[in-house]
Amino acid sequence: MSSSSNPTSAAYKHAIKELGLKSNIASTLEMPDRELTVEVPFRRDNGEMDSVIGFRVQHNNTRGPFKGGIRYHQHVDIEEVRSLATLMTWKTSLLDIPYGGGKGGIGVDPSKYSKTELERMSRNFFRAIDPIIGVNIDIPAPDVNTNAQVMSWFMDEYSQTHGYTPAIVTGKPLELGGSEGREAATGRGTAVITRETADKWGVDLKNSKVVIQGFGNVGSYAAKFLHEYGCKIIGVSDVTGGLYDPDGLDVPSLFEHNSQNRTIDGFNQGKKISNDELLALECDFMIPAALGSAINKSNVDSLNCKVIIEAANGPVTGDAANKLWDRKIGIIPDILTNAGGVTVSYFEWVQNLQQFKWTEDDVNEKLETKMVQAFNEVFELREKNNVPMRIASFMVAIDRVHKAYALRQG
Ligand code: NAD
Repeated sequence: MSSSSNPTSAAYKHAIKELGLKSNIASTLEMPDRELTVEVPFRRDNGEMDSVIGFRVQHNNTRGPFKGGIRYHQHVDIEEVRSLATLMTWKTSLLDIPYGGGKGGIGVDPSKYSKTELERMSRNFFRAIDPIIGVNIDIPAPDVNTNAQVMSWFMDEYSQTHGYTPAIVTGKPLELGGSEGREAATGRGTAVITRETADKWGVDLKNSKVVIQGFGNVGSYAAKFLHEYGCKIIGVSDVTGGLYDPDGLDVPSLFEHNSQNRTIDGFNQGKKISNDELLALECDFMIPAALGSAINKSNVDSLNCKVIIEAANGPVTGDAANKLWDRKIGIIPDILTNAGGVTVSYFEWVQNLQQFKWTEDDVNEKLETKMVQAFNEVFELREKNNVPMRIASFMVAIDRVHKAYALRQG
């Protein structure tokens, strides 16, 4: 992706300039600390040996252990993992969580393998990266196509050689030291950020009109909490298409329907619309919660909202973001909006280290405090420097890493 269409690298450069950091510091902070590529041999169910390639990139640990998910996808390669690891450094710093950034993955289509094959592959991958991970070194988590079951295999594999160690991964099932509130955390954080945005942008939250693209983990929980705040969710979509009701959809019933069917398709309320029509709906908040680059050159002119709340990672391309800035449509960036997930992952790790379980109310209250604090810091800087929220977010994040770096190296 060129830097004009990659919002992260453009934002990094802009933030560095605003902060007045020298180019040698900029390149030091941008460069990953360590990149590991491993071959992962494993036995197929028919007895034959097979192998796949896995990666773990440790971008920066100035403020704490490397932290980030492990993704299983046929498009995973070292460049993608590197850029996601970098983003984790800025996300954890922005939320002031004592972590750095990392990411991992295996370049594989997991749907082509049985559960027992995936288990052998996962265990062997974790053994292969064992020399560079640890509770105070690098703590993996789930990402695309990995889940609580994969984390259980990782944790079990690690515990066989290091003793019972739940804190080595987050995103575990509750029975193995997972945290209350983790499943809903990213959607809850998204709703909190939308609420704070409404306040600053002068939108009456109750009765505000919200559109959500993607109704998976993040989109469905964001819809649930925003509905509880009194917002009207007038449009939602998933991979099968969208639903629209100008008076607001019955979100609790839709949430239930989606939990049972894993799709909004077949829900008996609202007019069926396409994903393109959904993006063009007139609303206060447009929340892309599905794919990267969903809002791009080809559809940005059709948008008719006050603010875009980036719940997905990288849903607005750099070119589209420039056009939206000209039209005075706000963008609340991904590293702020969807940071609820990594924040509760951090709470999970803290609970594991303390060997003590918090209640769901404890978790939600602490999450809310973290999200509001980060939002306010970013908003203040936006006002002070007259920059978009994305640039202000990167400035807060980079400044915090840079200060820690200067103290450690100085
Ligand atoms: P998910 O797989 O649970 O849900 C994705 C949703 O998007 C599904 O409803 C799917 O049908 C829909 N979708 C897919 N293609 C679509 C298309 N072309 N048009 C419209 N909808 C489409 O994923 P998720 O966990 O909810 O993650 C969503 C986004 O949020 C991703 O970008 C992810 O990287 C990001 N994110 C998730 C978390 C988390 O904790 N789950 C944390 C940070 C960021």
